[in-house]
Amino acid sequence: MVSFPKKIKSLYIDGKWQSAASGKTDPVYNPATMEKITEVSFGGKQETVKAIQSASKAFLQWSSMTGRERSQILYRAYQLMMEDADRLAEILTTEQGKPLKEAKGEIQSAASFLLWYAEEASRLYGEWIPSSKQEKRLLVIPQPVGVVAAITPWNFPSSMITRKVGPALAAGCTVVLKPAPETPLSAIEIVKMFEKAGLPEGVFNLVTGDAKEIGETLLGDKSVRLITFTGSTEVGKYLMRESSRHVKKLSLELGGHAPILVFEDADLELAAELSLASKFRNAGQTCICANRLFVQESVQEAFSEKLLEKVKALKVGYGKEEDTDIGPLINQQALEKVESHLKDAVSRGAEVLYGGGVIDCGLQGYFYQPTVLANVNPDMRVMYEETFGPIIPVQTFKTEEEAIERANDTDYGLASYMFTENLNRAYRVMEKLEYGIVGVNDVLPATAEAPFGGIKQSGIGKEGGHHGIHEFVEMKYVSMGIK
Ligand code: ADP
Repeated sequence: MVSFPKKIKSLYIDGKWQSAASGKTDPVYNPATMEKITEVSFGGKQETVKAIQSASKAFLQWSSMTGRERSQILYRAYQLMMEDADRLAEILTTEQGKPLKEAKGEIQSAASFLLWYAEEASRLYGEWIPSSKQEKRLLVIPQPVGVVAAITPWNFPSSMITRKVGPALAAGCTVVLKPAPETPLSAIEIVKMFEKAGLPEGVFNLVTGDAKEIGETLLGDKSVRLITFTGSTEVGKYLMRESSRHVKKLSLELGGHAPILVFEDADLELAAELSLASKFRNAGQTCICANRLFVQESVQEAFSEKLLEKVKALKVGYGKEEDTDIGPLINQQALEKVESHLKDAVSRGAEVLYGGGVIDCGLQGYFYQPTVLANVNPDMRVMYEETFGPIIPVQTFKTEEEAIERANDTDYGLASYMFTENLNRAYRVMEKLEYGIVGVNDVLPATAEAPFGGIKQSGIGKEGGHHGIHEFVEMKYVSMGIK
């Protein structure tokens, strides 16, 4: 069992753990039991300014090291994470609620970003451009952008950090991290890992506390050259607007409204199994989880039967119990949103095929039943707003064209999925889906070696793959006259 002191000094600035100057703290709760786990430091402007100064000071040394040298530290951090995976997973479940098996999966995934970018650190290639003039030589040198501010969410408290910090450090950038207030403990562990791995002081700074004040300070400081953010579209738009003050670079992973298309030529058993995995993973609190399920009319009955049978078998409960499939929602606000989406859908004629309410697990947390809705229409909030909870609206379509049109009828463009055994259809549809990510007979596309990111109002930029490191790099063009 992991245990925590009553208070943790959670600000890590210039290689030193410290409390907020004001002495203020912020409680961290277990969302399953509502018990207070600990209190972390509640930093603000003063601490953020110091963290930026520390990252600026450390930049010259860190960016001057070779990729190989930086790679070794990242690789050591990867090893430390793998060695400590079980404990880290338990901390994650304690503060976030997801079932332990999912938390273990997240720690593996978080570590894989460190491994991948430890490898990429030595492969940041430039370019030699053949000149049109005899007396000139043209080259392109990749250089780190500078100080990076990383703002991360609570739904993946560990992997959203390594997916940003891994490539940033690999590229030679220094970092100020502001994690979500709900889940600072996983962030603290990651910083400690890097400390142990031998990261020089000031390269990676952690500021917990007042989101607005920290955000405003990061935005107002011209030495912060890039903001990498995962979170709501609303906050993403704010960061984008305010970044114009100093023309900062941006990398944004925002909300989604993923459709799943189940065609009549699909493997229905697989489609039902994976639709479930997509929708109810992390209690529906992932930005790539299914929000709308479209089933071709001819297989609707057969598919729904399979789906409902599987949904009924899911166990909602405490994430630390072995057989739990769905943990609690993160907080009261999340629960209220899910409840309001359900109420709105029902008031507009939706039929609840299963679930539809909170569930008493004998604990104080925010547990909600996995819920399946039928008779839905585009006017319902579940159909155009991100629910971020375990509700799945199911509807039918007649033709491939109709399915594509309805799938694309959203402002979001992060992930989309389809089930078909027909290769021709798979190609036709994947090319027409207006999304940054398409899963064909697959609902778990996120992996360290591939570029993850949305289009439209789901964001800007890619995380993961060799593409991910380029967010943190400026391509400097050098034109050289020679005699
Ligand atoms: P959610 O509603 O899912 O918590 P948010 O977009 O509000 O999503 O949160 C994602 C991250 O953005 C969190 O770390 C949160 O503290 C941070 N955040 C929220 N508001 C601001 C802001 N005004 N400035 C900077 N960061 C913010």
